[in-house]
Amino acid sequence: MATGVLVADTVEVVTTLFGFDNSFVRDLPGLYERWHATTASEPELLVLNEPLALGLGVDPAALRSAAGVEVLVGNVVPDGAEPVAQAYAGHQFGGFSPRLGDGRALLLGEVVDTAGRRRDLHLKGSGRTPFARGGDGLAAIGPMLREYLMCEAMAALRVPTTRALAVVATGDTVRRESMLPGAVFVRVASSHLRVGTFQYAASLEDPGVLSALLEHAIQRHYPDAADANVPALALIEAVMDAQADLIAHWMNLGFIHGVMNTDNVTISGETIDFGPCAFMDRYDPATVFSSIDHGGRYAYGNQPSIGQWNLARLAEPLLPVINADLDTAVEDATELLRTFPERYERRLVAGQAAKLGLDAEHPEAGALASDLLDLMHASQADFTTTWRRLSDVLRGDDAGVRAELSTASAAVDAWLDRFRSVHAAVGGPVDEIATGMDLVNPIYIPRNHLVEAALAAGSAGDLAPFEELSNVLADPFVERDGFERFAQPAPEGFLESYQTFCGT
Ligand code: AMP
Ligand code: MG
Repeated sequence: MATGVLVADTVEVVTTLFGFDNSFVRDLPGLYERWHATTASEPELLVLNEPLALGLGVDPAALRSAAGVEVLVGNVVPDGAEPVAQAYAGHQFGGFSPRLGDGRALLLGEVVDTAGRRRDLHLKGSGRTPFARGGDGLAAIGPMLREYLMCEAMAALRVPTTRALAVVATGDTVRRESMLPGAVFVRVASSHLRVGTFQYAASLEDPGVLSALLEHAIQRHYPDAADANVPALALIEAVMDAQADLIAHWMNLGFIHGVMNTDNVTISGETIDFGPCAFMDRYDPATVFSSIDHGGRYAYGNQPSIGQWNLARLAEPLLPVINADLDTAVEDATELLRTFPERYERRLVAGQAAKLGLDAEHPEAGALASDLLDLMHASQADFTTTWRRLSDVLRGDDAGVRAELSTASAAVDAWLDRFRSVHAAVGGPVDEIATGMDLVNPIYIPRNHLVEAALAAGSAGDLAPFEELSNVLADPFVERDGFERFAQPAPEGFLESYQTFCGT
C-alpha cells in the first residue's frame, strides 16, 4: 500500500499507509469504546522494526517520515483506522476486576499482512481512555523500550509472541517516582482477545455479545472449532493447547512472565504484556522478580498451574453456551480442563528432549531433564549457560557444564555418564546432534543487567546500547566472537536486589 510514499511526504499520502479491515469493531459492538489518542507534543521515532513493517506491507521509510511518525504516535488517525479502547475484565492476582479494559492503549485497526494473516495494530501509552480509572494513560520510554526488546527477543527465540513495531517518544513527561520522558509503544498481535474479554462479555446483559465473541474468536484463530459438536468446548481445547505450548516454551527458556492475570492471557497463545517479565539466571523454581508479586503467585515454577487456573476462568463465562444444563456444562468443561497437565507435560518434555539432543519421544528425556534441573538447582547453576554447554559434552568437553554444576560432583559424574550413554545407545552423528542442540539452547538471552543498562541509557537519550543488545538478541542461537559479555551472568550482587515493575 505504501509504495510511492517515499517521495510524497504528506499526511494525505501517508494516511493510506496501512490497508485496514477492522473485524473486531465490525463484529463486536459492546466490547469497545471508540476513542482517540492524546496528542503528543513532539513525537520522535526511537525504534522501528523494519522487517515487521515490510511484513505488514508498509514501506519503513514512510513510517520514518514525519507524517508516518504522527501516525505511529497516534496524533493522526490514518485512513481506514477506527481506533477503539477494548473492554475486558480480569482476575488480577486471583481477585476479579469486572472492568479493566485498555486504560492507556488503543486498537488502531487490523491489517492483513503480506502472508495473509490478520494482525492488530495497537498503541500503548497513548493517553487516558474511558477505562483509565485512576491511571494517567501514559507510559515512559524505559518500560516501552523494555517491552520492545523483550517482545523481539521472544520472537527470535521462536516463542509465540505479540510483536514490537515501534517506540515513539512523545516529547511529554510522565510523572512516576520522578518525571520521566513519555513514549508510545506500537504493538502488532494476531489479536488482543484475552480470557478477560470473555469474562467481560459474559458480564453484559446482552447474551448476544458473548455468542458474537465466541464466533469471532473461532473464525479468527481456530476455524475448525466451528464444526465441532460444541464449538465453545473446541475453542477452550484449542486455547488450552496454545497456552500449554506457550508455557512450555517459557519454561524451557527460563522465562518468567510475572503477571499472568487473565487479562494478560491471549486466546491466540501469544505472549503479551511484558511489564515485569524477566529471564531467570540461576535456576530456582521459586524465582520471582516482580515487585508486586509478594506471594510468589507467578513464580517461575507456578506458571503451568496458573496457566490451568486461567483456562478455568475462560471456561466459566462459556458455560451457558457449552450446555443449557449447567451441571452438564460444568462436568464437560471440568473433564476437558483436567487434561491440561498432560497436554502441557507432553510439550514440555518434547522441548526438553530437543534441548538434550534427543527425539521428542525418547523415553529417557523427561527424567534426564528433571534430574539435570535438580542438579542445577542444588548448584545455583546459570540456566541458560548449563543448557547451552550440554552440546560440548557430546563434542567431548564437559568443562563448561561442570563449571556450572560445581557442587554435587558424584551426582554430576553419574548424570553425565547417563547422558553420554543414552546418546551412545541412540548412536546418531554426534556433531550434527550437537549443532541441533545449539539451535534450541540459546547462548544469548535478555540478561537482566544488560537490559537495565540498555534502558537506562535509552531513557537518557543514548540508544546505542539498546541497539547493540537488540542486535545480539536478534540471533540468539549463534555464538559470535566479540559478544562474550552478552553471555555472561550478572555481576556479583546484582540479582540479590533485582526487581521488575508492572504498569510502569
Ligand atoms: P497490565 O497489568 O499492565 O496489563 O495493566 C492492567 C490494567 O491497568 C489494564 O487495564 C491497563 O490498561 C491498566 N493500566 C496500566 N497502566 C495504566 C496507566 N498508566 N493508565 C491507565 N491505565 C493503566
Ligand atoms: Mg495487560
